[in-house]
Amino acid sequence: MAERLLGKEVAAALNEKIKGQVAQLKEKGINPTLGIVRVGERPDDLSYEKGATKRCETLGVAVKKFLLPADVTQEELMATIKQVNEDDEVNGCLIFRPLPKHLDEGAVIKALDPAKDVDGITDGSMVGVFAGKAQGFPPCTPQACMEILDHYGIDCTGKKAVVVGRSLVVGKPAAMMLIKKNATVTICHTKTVDMPSVVKEADIVIVAAGRAGVVDDTYVSEGQVVIDVGINMNAEGKLCGDVAFDKVEPIVKAITPVPGGVGAVTTSVLVGHVVEAAMRKYM
Ligand code: NAP
Repeated sequence: MAERLLGKEVAAALNEKIKGQVAQLKEKGINPTLGIVRVGERPDDLSYEKGATKRCETLGVAVKKFLLPADVTQEELMATIKQVNEDDEVNGCLIFRPLPKHLDEGAVIKALDPAKDVDGITDGSMVGVFAGKAQGFPPCTPQACMEILDHYGIDCTGKKAVVVGRSLVVGKPAAMMLIKKNATVTICHTKTVDMPSVVKEADIVIVAAGRAGVVDDTYVSEGQVVIDVGINMNAEGKLCGDVAFDKVEPIVKAITPVPGGVGAVTTSVLVGHVVEAAMRKYM
């Protein structure tokens, strides 16, 4: 049976580090604060907001909410982003997306100060990820994957890594982060030919395809580390990943469960970014 790479253990270690940094900031009279911009009341947003707010509270980070109605105008939303940018109390900002269809999301993202972009959505943050520089912040989900690898002492140097998925939110930044860790990286997508043989050759596999069970026992081999980013609902209404866990776990060396893997780390990464933003500004 594979070793289970548990998100809660990684999050607990990150939380301890964050608490130490928050204490250092508070000693200097700085109260790290996350700004949340939410338009409307989508259940997904409310649920993530609840988790992020709770995580902030337990780590001593304040939350300032900027709540707008679903029919907010572009001008009103842009004015709110300007307010967030100019608010010295707010160190980092989370904007829930997708925004309602009548709003220009690209313009909203462009307006956000990259120094406060703790969710890694601005071009400035992307440049940071692709150039391997501490500019803006990487998106939280691929960074959560890297935190899992680091926590469990999985050295990527010289290893073959395969990322399944090429989105700008997960797949592409994950591949760049693995390159920074000196892995040799291949990205697979829907046009990849003979994906099972490509994935089988890897030492480390990150799966972010958004399709339940897309990677099964025909894709994997002994000794592999498998990180499953997927969050899907199966036919019984239960959460499941992009990896067919029951078929893959008996073969590979280590695997993240869903739930309890990557998803359990992302809010700690987000709060860590808020604290880092405050430290970059004041320490
Ligand atoms: P996305 O934008 O839909 O991108 C999916 C990517 O996977 C695309 O590049 C697509 O290829 C590729 N793909 C889809 N089916 C494939 C297949 N059968 N074989 C090979 N490649 C395939 O999704 P995303 O936003 O990156 O999210 C990926 C997954 O992560 C989703 O399940 C999402 O719910 C989850 N997620 C989890 C967290 C977390 O905190 N754990 C956070 C964000 C997202 P093409 O480019 O060719 O279409």
